[in-house]
Amino acid sequence: MQRTVTKSHASADELLQKFKIKVTGNIIWAGGITELLLSIAQFLLGNTAQALVILAAGIFFTMMAWRYQGQRIPILIRVVFVALLTVISVMSIYLNGHIGVYWTYPLLVACFFVFSGAAGIVAAVALTLIFSATAVLTMPLDDGWRIATTLVIICVLGSVFVVLLTELQKLLRKMVVTDTLTGLNNRHLVTQVLEQSIYSNARYGRAATLVMADLDHFKQLNDQHGHLFGDQILKQVAERMRTVLRKEDQLFRVGGEEFLIVLPSTKLEEAMRAAEKLRALVADTAFNGKNATVSITMSLGVAELSKGQTWVEWLNAADTALLEAKRKGRNQVRKVSKAKPEAQAIT
Ligand code: GH3
Ligand code: MG
Ligand code: MG
Repeated sequence: MQRTVTKSHASADELLQKFKIKVTGNIIWAGGITELLLSIAQFLLGNTAQALVILAAGIFFTMMAWRYQGQRIPILIRVVFVALLTVISVMSIYLNGHIGVYWTYPLLVACFFVFSGAAGIVAAVALTLIFSATAVLTMPLDDGWRIATTLVIICVLGSVFVVLLTELQKLLRKMVVTDTLTGLNNRHLVTQVLEQSIYSNARYGRAATLVMADLDHFKQLNDQHGHLFGDQILKQVAERMRTVLRKEDQLFRVGGEEFLIVLPSTKLEEAMRAAEKLRALVADTAFNGKNATVSITMSLGVAELSKGQTWVEWLNAADTALLEAKRKGRNQVRKVSKAKPEAQAIT
């Protein structure tokens, strides 16, 4: 029954983070190289002052993109990036009129990538105001209001897109960590929660105990009443268990008919009482399925976190206690004492 718990929850977030880092890095690269090329064009056109400003910006962005390759670019540098390009675009509108306006659109869109979430929207609104005001003040009204309107449209559409993506991301994260049948957390967050408890134990000496629960002879129940009936019972077991646990306790469905409960700030004896309560909660009252009423039982293994233990060792300790509960006849709670690692019954 030894299991392996993967860290796929972390990789989803890590993947997104890596993607954001890559996109921002590429935007800074693209900004830097574009400025370098533009500075050459300005030199050739004889606009030496403009060329020098753009060249300085191009060198700075390329150096930063190089320096922070594969890493998160510090917020200050990202602010400087957008601010400098804003100044250059405004300067270009003042000096060149319409031609300068073309740069404002990609810069506005880049804001949503360079800054995340609300910060991107705030930056885009600020840029829209600056560019619109510049266009209205420096160009004929006919041009000015059209430019301002198109900038506002891009800003609004970009902001709606960011809000939608943020909501979608939240929903996806919730779906990934939720078991669809019972609504409990699934195994994706187990490692993270166990590691958090281990950190609190090492740093503040805070106790934590793990309870591993497995329904007894569940295969038989499925064989007799069908899989759908089994599903109904699993749902009800989860609901019952939820009612007796504290708000801070974390209940996971980690396998078909297996549950894991992390009890923070809880020592072994207290956790044994909680586990016994859970056992009785399942065994003492029959479950009503669609066409039948059945009595089921559950075996539980309890292990308090020992200092220096890894999450795998801790999980295995609870598993050992659960196996012992099964071996000794099921419908019981066994513990792994810290002093004596072999599983013991409630005394
Ligand atoms: P034991 O007391 O040793 O735990 O016996 P068991 O029959 O519960 O254990 P076993 O591991 O042999 O079988 C587990 C069964 O749980 C197999 C499968 O029919 C059932 N099961 C697993 N996942 C689900 C599920 O999502 N829905 C339903 N209805 N049954 C499931
Ligand atoms: Mg079972
Ligand atoms: Mg099982």
